[in-house]
Amino acid sequence: MQIQELIPLGPKTTMRIGGNAQYYAELQTQRDCEEAWQFAQGKGIPMIVLGAGSNTIFADGVIEALVVRVLANAIEVSGNTVRAEAGASLATVVTQLAKRGLDFSPLTGIPGTVGGAIFGNAGQGPQGTWIDHFVQTVVVFIDGEWKTLSREECDFRYRESIFKKLQNPLLWKTTFSVPSRKAGDIEQDIGSLLKKRTIAQPFSRTAGSCFKAVNGTPAWNVIDAAGLKGCKVGDVQVSDKHANFLINTGNGTFADAKHLIEEIRQKTGAPLELEMRFIGESGSPLR
Ligand SMILES: Cc1cc2nc3c(=O)[nH]c(=O)nc-3n(C[C@H](O)[C@H](O)[C@H](O)COP(=O)(O)OP(=O)(O)OC[C@H]3O[C@@H](n4cnc5c(N)ncnc54)[C@H](O)[C@@H]3O)c2cc1C
Repeated sequence: MQIQELIPLGPKTTMRIGGNAQYYAELQTQRDCEEAWQFAQGKGIPMIVLGAGSNTIFADGVIEALVVRVLANAIEVSGNTVRAEAGASLATVVTQLAKRGLDFSPLTGIPGTVGGAIFGNAGQGPQGTWIDHFVQTVVVFIDGEWKTLSREECDFRYRESIFKKLQNPLLWKTTFSVPSRKAGDIEQDIGSLLKKRTIAQPFSRTAGSCFKAVNGTPAWNVIDAAGLKGCKVGDVQVSDKHANFLINTGNGTFADAKHLIEEIRQKTGAPLELEMRFIGESGSPLR
């Protein structure tokens, strides 16, 4: 494992926003995780895990942390049991399982990795199916120790898990139980879910939903009702297509995005909690 210095983070996120990681490393093995953690401990800085960056933006300056990416992405299938490493793309898991007649289709169209999806309990909307529905166990590296947590111990809720409450855990591998169904039927559902998304969502420089639903009401509803579609600060804009998606229209910055979320909160007057991860210079997330 190689530790690099001052690596630009913007290109590693779908919204293309962010400054540089003070240190950066890509992890292939469990031994790499241990070494990376020891390095961060030695420097007295946090070790922050980044997946595909489809729900994250970083501060504009230098992030005083070791930012790591899990590259391990093996997917093993045995009957209805599926083991996927954290770096596996969720889309690849969905399509590979469909071919084997295993139905992971409720997670269709969600960009990112298995690790990112477990961290934020990704799923289709506030009322839809979330990834925790399939989880049996999760292998995680916390405070220098490997642990295997049961689904109950992960304390999954709407876009929440125990991992959001822990100090920079590193998710390594998840075991899922996935029901069987006819491959053709699963593929049909995947097709129609993807079609719905192309109609409803922008696929430009965005990090997906910015805010969580408010007491079951989708945040786009609240933002749209306040007339904020198209509202812009610098080069970051509320999408015209989906009011809960922020778009980087050019050279958007973390500061632009932060001011825009403040404006949205003020103008809606709603208690909007962030779903997106805004990682500040100290490596801590904004709330
Ligand atoms: C167009 C678009 C549509 C989207 N639609 C949906 C949707 O329908 N439903 C939904 O839930 N989300 C959606 N999202 C948001 C995003 O795809 C999910 O949150 C996804 O699960 C994030 O995965 P990631 O690998 O990109 O995570 P990242 O953005 O890289 O990271 C997100 C968080 O997870 C943590 N993390 C990532 N990997 C690990 C790991 N291995 N160990 C520990 N922590 C980790 C990071 O530290 C960070 O705090 C959408 C995003 C886009 C751009």
